[in-house]
Amino acid sequence: VSEVKRTEVGQPHAERTTGKTKRVLVIGKGGREHALCWALSRSPRVERVFCAPGNAGTAQLGRNVALEPSDFKGLARFARHEEIDLVVIGPEEPLCQGLADHLRDQGLKVFGPSAEAAELEGSKLFAKDLMKQAGIPTAEAKVFDNAKDAETYVLSREVMLTIRPRNHHSIRQASSCRTAADCLEMINAVFDPRDYPNPALEVEIIGRNQKQVFRKGPEAREFVLRQPLGLVVKADGLAAGKGVEVCDDFRSALDAIQRIMVRREFGKAGDKILIEERLEGPEASVLALTDGRTIAPFDIAQDFKRAFDNDEGPNTGGMGAYSPTTKLITPEVMARIEEQVLVPAVHFMKKRRRPFQGVLYAGLILTEQGPKVLEFNVRFGDPECQVLLPRLKSDLYDLLEAVVEERLEEVELQWDTRASVCVTLVSEGYPGPFEKDKAISGLEEAARLPDVLVFHAGTKTNHEGRVLTDGGRVLNVVGLGDTLAQARDRAYQAAALIRFQGRRYRSDIALHAVEHG
Ligand code: AMP
Repeated sequence: VSEVKRTEVGQPHAERTTGKTKRVLVIGKGGREHALCWALSRSPRVERVFCAPGNAGTAQLGRNVALEPSDFKGLARFARHEEIDLVVIGPEEPLCQGLADHLRDQGLKVFGPSAEAAELEGSKLFAKDLMKQAGIPTAEAKVFDNAKDAETYVLSREVMLTIRPRNHHSIRQASSCRTAADCLEMINAVFDPRDYPNPALEVEIIGRNQKQVFRKGPEAREFVLRQPLGLVVKADGLAAGKGVEVCDDFRSALDAIQRIMVRREFGKAGDKILIEERLEGPEASVLALTDGRTIAPFDIAQDFKRAFDNDEGPNTGGMGAYSPTTKLITPEVMARIEEQVLVPAVHFMKKRRRPFQGVLYAGLILTEQGPKVLEFNVRFGDPECQVLLPRLKSDLYDLLEAVVEERLEEVELQWDTRASVCVTLVSEGYPGPFEKDKAISGLEEAARLPDVLVFHAGTKTNHEGRVLTDGGRVLNVVGLGDTLAQARDRAYQAAALIRFQGRRYRSDIALHAVEHG
């Protein structure tokens, strides 16, 4: 019935047979890279898969190589020595740092964009600018290179409060304040004895549905800063998916500016920030292969970024995903995304002499006015990759090779009609600080379930051969099924079998789609 019967974890590496001649090096160590190694090792053309540095899962499919993605020279030397036919770069960081360029200069075939093209993800400013030029629908944004101007901009947003200073004897005239800055100024003035011969003892602040009295300036100011706001603060550069703060009130926007620009929590990535309007609607990821001329979109996947159920808690690298999402993105919407987003992006990159080759990933929000781009990524999404590759019927090696050889128009992407659901098992505390080195049990039991794949993310093998946790996102458990509900049940059944101290996962991945279509 099914193409994928069980995980490859623990299975011996594919044997050398006629036609299997290609040697592939995958760079990275997450669930995405395990899924890439898995799909490539199933290709009838691939003889051997190497992964640098890899994890406990990739080690079972091929050979892990103890080289970090930042070790450009070491990787080039290894790839030449091992006569690697194709290098596939997983994560964004080495792409933005120029790993693809370095390896290409050494005569290697590389799947992944140049550093100049990777700016599309590496600089949100560059991406915004390109979108503007290319007429790609996106949120309005302003750019700031210092915290003071950014704060002034935030405080200039509308609040609509009325402030009435009072003391024992008199109630002074109320003033309506249109912006947060106006409110703060008014509060400062009424509590400041220099401006009033007898300063107010308290202020009454009246909003649309609220009325409160404050006796101290700081409390009154905080009340103003807690008023609702619809802005998103983003660090310009790469911040491991963490430099974006969706702000519900003025306070959180000011705090985000402080963290990014003053405390410099993301280093140079926070030299500049974008503050953009908050968009409303469901999110979807559209990924496409492109050789710089032709575009071949993948099926649609939806990922879950927030740490907790009901999309609560902070953003993470990704707590799960599912595919396909035909209800969310109809063929008509997809055609619109291709025409309004993917084609102009590839076209304008070429026009700017930064031809884009690799995976172009558009993070979208489906607003009432149509799809708008939140961000571009320049590589496979993680965990979108883990739900897409098990559904891909075409040979991944053929596809990636066609991209590198700029003949993508010759190949076709074919999809399994079944659905897939990925549940990410994370360490306790993630996305904050977490402990590592917890023993993992139940991997083999989970792998024995039909239509289940277990992709490793943050795992390693110790000297006794035990698999231990080694990161925040530890495992990606993927279920496949004829329906989304079946795929989901399988993923959760398998996830429940896997144990390690502090293991946590969301219980609502793909639930809404199963219940409401
Ligand atoms: P990004 O890295 O730009 O995709 O942002 C990460 C997450 O922040 C997105 O997946 C959204 O959930 C959220 N986000 C970013 N920009 C916006 C926006 N303009 N409106 C609403 N949510 C946003």
